[in-house]
Amino acid sequence: MDTVGEYMESPIPSVDQETTIKETAEFMKSNKTASVLVKNKEDYIGIVTDADFTRKVAREGLSVENLKIDVIMSSPIVKVKKSTLMTEANELMLKSNIRHLAVTDEEKIVGMLSIINFLNYHSKVEIKLKQLSVRDGLTGIFNRRYFDEIIAKEWKRAAREKKSISLIMLDIDSFKLYNDFYGHQAGDECLKKVSNVISETLHRASDVAARYGGEEFAVILPSVDKEKALQLAETIRNKIESLHIEHKQNQASAYVTASIGTSCTIPVPGSSTESLIANADQALFRAKKEGKNRVQSQFI
Ligand code: GH3
Ligand code: MG
Ligand code: MG
Repeated sequence: MDTVGEYMESPIPSVDQETTIKETAEFMKSNKTASVLVKNKEDYIGIVTDADFTRKVAREGLSVENLKIDVIMSSPIVKVKKSTLMTEANELMLKSNIRHLAVTDEEKIVGMLSIINFLNYHSKVEIKLKQLSVRDGLTGIFNRRYFDEIIAKEWKRAAREKKSISLIMLDIDSFKLYNDFYGHQAGDECLKKVSNVISETLHRASDVAARYGGEEFAVILPSVDKEKALQLAETIRNKIESLHIEHKQNQASAYVTASIGTSCTIPVPGSSTESLIANADQALFRAKKEGKNRVQSQFI
C-alpha cells in the first residue's frame, strides 16, 4: 500500500527558534531544502516552508534581519504516522488547509511530507491505473482488450513490411474438472502458474502474451515463422506439464496440461486478423480432438 513513509523526505533539517528569518533562509538555501522544522530547547514547535517567505515575509514586508523565525512559522505542527496512507494524508492536508505534514515513527518526527511529494504519488497511481486497464486482474498478463489492440497493430505492420506473424492459442485441458475436483481457488492458482510459464518462455519485447478468455491464452509473435512458433508452442506445452500440478481428472496426463494451436501468415494488405485467429482456433480444436496435451498447427 502507498504509505506516507514511502514518499516523505528525510532527514528534515531544523533551526532554533532564536534564528532570524534571514539566517533561516540562508540555512535552507545551503541545505537545498524547501522546508525546516523550528525547535526550542525541548521540542519541535513549528514548520517553515519556502512558500512562507513569499506569502508572509514579502507580502507583509517583514524585517528579515531582526525578526525571529517563529514569527512566520506555522504551528502547531500537524503530524501523521509513517504508516498513514497517502490518500488519508491528502485528505488531512486539504481539511486543515496546510501544505506540509510532519511524519512520525513511534512519536518521533522522522520526515516531512509536502505538496511536492504528492506529485510522485500521483504519477505512480496514474501508471498503475494505466496498467490496470491493459492487464488481467488474476494473472497480471495482458488482457483481451490489449490483445485485440496489439494484434490489429502488428497485423498491419506485418502486411506493410511483408513479414510473417504467428499466433499461439492455448487452452488448459479438462479445466472444468480441475475446478470441480480441487476447487475454484486452486483453479485460480493454476491459471497464474500457467500464465507465468507462458511469460517466462517469451524473450522478445514484441511478443505479447494475453489471457484470451477463462482458461485460454494467446500469444502474438510478430516476425516469427511457423517453425519457430511451433517450437515455442511445444516448449510452453512441455513446461506446463513439467510444473507437475496434480490433475487426477485429466485423461491426457497425471498433471495439468494444455492443448495448443498455432498459425502463421504473411498478411495481405487490407485483410483482417480473423483468418489468423480462426486458423489457430481450428488447430487447437484438432489438438483437443486428437487427445489433448499436444500442439497442432494450421496455416493460411
Ligand atoms: P477442455 O479440455 O475441452 O478444454 O475442457 P475444459 O473443461 O477445460 O473446458 P470448459 O470450457 O468446459 O471449461 C472451462 C472451465 O474453466 C470452466 C470454468 O469454470 C473454468 N474457468 C474459467 N475462468 C476461470 C477462472 O478465472 N478461475 C477458475 N478457477 N476457473 C475458471
Ligand atoms: Mg476453453
Ligand atoms: Mg479447457
